[in-house]
Amino acid sequence: MNNALVTGGAGFIGSHLAETLLHSGYAVQIIDDLSTGSVENISHLKHHSRFSYVFDTMMNRPVQLELIRQADVVFHLAAAVGVNLIVDDPVKTIETNIKTTELVLEYCARESKPVLLTSTSEVYGKLAQPKFNEGDDLVLGPTSNSRWCYAASKIIDEFLAQAYFKDKGLPVVVVRLFNTIGPRQTGRYGMVVPRLVKQALSGEPITVYGDGQQSRSFGWVGDVADAMIRLIGHPQAYGQVFNVGHSDEIPILQLAQMIKEKTQSSSPIEFVPYDHAYGTGFEDIPRRLPDLKKIQQLIGYQPSLDLPAMLDRIIAFSRQHMEVPVT
Ligand code: UDP
Repeated sequence: MNNALVTGGAGFIGSHLAETLLHSGYAVQIIDDLSTGSVENISHLKHHSRFSYVFDTMMNRPVQLELIRQADVVFHLAAAVGVNLIVDDPVKTIETNIKTTELVLEYCARESKPVLLTSTSEVYGKLAQPKFNEGDDLVLGPTSNSRWCYAASKIIDEFLAQAYFKDKGLPVVVVRLFNTIGPRQTGRYGMVVPRLVKQALSGEPITVYGDGQQSRSFGWVGDVADAMIRLIGHPQAYGQVFNVGHSDEIPILQLAQMIKEKTQSSSPIEFVPYDHAYGTGFEDIPRRLPDLKKIQQLIGYQPSLDLPAMLDRIIAFSRQHMEVPVT
């Protein structure tokens, strides 16, 4: 397995995965339509002798098939991402997430190539329990609320993966990524950590939605990339779904305070009602924490950093790369 294809490789997680694969000795080819990914994300990789890139839509079938033929292993990350984008453009979300995955699975099955599919913790929906386990029920809201189309489209992707595994013997692994953070993540699509760090560094109000008591756990992008590479190399992972994330949780208000402190920012913390942030009828998830037993048991997965250490690195990176006056 020396040649890896990363779809969505110019995105935040995709570009980190490409980097980790290169460090592990792989030749890496990426495809990205640059809809949410960016050339800057891969600018430090572009001249690497084992790295190549194609900027094209995932729906360009001959290109897709050729790239899959050239690969020994495929990481399918290309997807519509970010709550803002999903609420604004549900048609694109559904089409992108289902059609492209269908194509990738079909071609990987035809060419007998192992493939890792990225799903999301969103699929657990409104499940209300301390930790989410891969075997738990998935609890979504009504179809009149476009928030749920992202989860529903990823659930279809997971069903497709299971069907290809059972019917066609496709070696496929599904990972449910929980909130993932690291350098180069943009706040443009709603993600809380890059948004709050940017706000804190530029002296703008730090926006906490609702009362800030909703909590999340944040996984380090480098750990997530490592986990994906190890899972696809593990035949016992085929046909399985794995949570990937971090076991510590933090309320968003506390996260905002930690970011304010670490950046020594004078920005006020501002509470923004959900309706203002996302439009009326938006349902937030009050709590989201992964049960990591399954991935720990199979590959000994352990997060390498805690949240304060992750924030230190992200803030240091942001200070270097953002042209903002630091107050
Ligand atoms: N959030 C916030 N302020 C922001 C952006 C997000 O308080 O400026 C909240 C958001 O409502 C959610 C949490 O932070 O409760 C995580 O949001 P994100 O969009 O990063 O991820 P997801 O909602 O998918 O977990």
